[in-house]
Amino acid sequence: MLSCMFLTISTTGSAEDPATDLGFLLHKHPGKVQAFSTSHGIAHVFYPEAADERCTAALLLEVDPVALVRRGQGKGRGGAPDAALAQYVNDRPYAASSLLAVALGSVFRSALGGRCTARPELPEQARPLRIEIPALPARGGAQLVHRLFDPLGWDLVRAEPVPLDEQFPEWGDSRYVRLVLEGELRLADALRQLYVLLPVLDDAKHYWVAPDEVDKLLRAGDGWLAAHPENGLISARYLARHKGLTREALDRLELLRLAEADGSEVEELDNAVGETEEKAVPLAVRRREAILGALRAAGASRVLDLGCGQGQLVQALLKEPAFTEIVGVDVSMRALGMAAKRLRLERMGEQQSSRVQLLQGSLAYTDKRLAGYDAAVLSEVIEHLDLPRLPALEYAVFGAARPRTVLVTTPNVEYNVRWETLPAGHVRHGDHRFEWNRAEFGGWAASVAGRHGYEVAFVPVGDDDPEVGPPTQMAVFTRIDTGTQKEGEVA
Ligand code: SAH
Repeated sequence: MLSCMFLTISTTGSAEDPATDLGFLLHKHPGKVQAFSTSHGIAHVFYPEAADERCTAALLLEVDPVALVRRGQGKGRGGAPDAALAQYVNDRPYAASSLLAVALGSVFRSALGGRCTARPELPEQARPLRIEIPALPARGGAQLVHRLFDPLGWDLVRAEPVPLDEQFPEWGDSRYVRLVLEGELRLADALRQLYVLLPVLDDAKHYWVAPDEVDKLLRAGDGWLAAHPENGLISARYLARHKGLTREALDRLELLRLAEADGSEVEELDNAVGETEEKAVPLAVRRREAILGALRAAGASRVLDLGCGQGQLVQALLKEPAFTEIVGVDVSMRALGMAAKRLRLERMGEQQSSRVQLLQGSLAYTDKRLAGYDAAVLSEVIEHLDLPRLPALEYAVFGAARPRTVLVTTPNVEYNVRWETLPAGHVRHGDHRFEWNRAEFGGWAASVAGRHGYEVAFVPVGDDDPEVGPPTQMAVFTRIDTGTQKEGEVA
């Protein structure tokens, strides 16, 4: 029993810019029918049409289900034959799927990598592309197809559910969609999206997920995955929900994303907010003053600056001898590098440098190194995390590290109308995943405090506008100690 999976790639052109350049891009001659042996069957590449105006390449994979089962044995988890495979054999061959992605990756390897020795300039150019996959298994349906492809620069994303049986529409839809993508993209980008997203939609990757799958994912995701709003779902599904690997992938993507988004924008924008105010003290400065004041009031001496960015607060803390130990933590190596420069860590005397440490780490995971401090500051950090990841940060800080005092600052979105150069409805920084009003922040802070045994008070930072409140909101959390004698505390 042999069955087929199918994908076409079309482009348009003219005599000066012939569509048949597609042949160069794919490294496959439009005049030939070629066959390649891949791990799951035979892949054929041919061109149903090849003219200057329009050229279409087709990739057809003949799957050999028997070979698939044989390969499956000893490859399933723990070396046992993969039970999921029985079902796999039944529906696999009729659809584009993970296997098509594997074939795509091997047959069009150079195109995926954006290499073209004959015409090196070609892969750099975006072309009008049309990609069609007549039967794409999509767990999550057309809706998920849109969530995955809509953010990727296509002009048109069409996902039509395929009925179970055309003769009997009342039977409803199958789990397949007909996918059509149209837009001006570089072919390599389009292929790399498909290479990742076909198996993600299929969600039935049956083979053993090796640690180098993370590298493969990040290579294929280069330039589009880090900033993709669904990168959590994409990584988890691509890596067959392997928790450790997914975590590694997300950490590395976060680093990429932060390296792409320039952290310095935060300061610039804060300065702009300050300028519209009478005193013209930049908001960033007022925020640091508010934080220092709250730390002094709490009597903290060993302080964590979580999401320290370029180290402005660490620098200010170092100036006060009362702060005996200061640890800046950030997920971005680039930010930490800038912080080290700002602090002149290299040229610092021993006494000074023994007070300060910069650590790379993600606040979305518990970290033993963060336990036992008096206070932790999260200044303008929470809004850089996707909302679904906020509970992880909450647990890492309030559940695991548990300093006596936690200060959290975040923009008050109500104030945005007062910021003249900010277009209506826009967030203050491109990398902000959300901005909260006072009620939203207050609600979150109160529930965090309740869950982890803290009390919380709120402090406005910047001019407290009677209507919309202050530009920055700060929550001061204090751990409620249940023991009779609280350590280090004056009765
Ligand atoms: N605290 C600084 C910087 C705020 S910008 C200030 O108030 O100016 C937000 C910082 O949070 C960035 O440096 C970013 O790298 C860091 N960040 C974002 N997500 C993070 C995470 N999951 N773990 C650690 N740091 C993170």
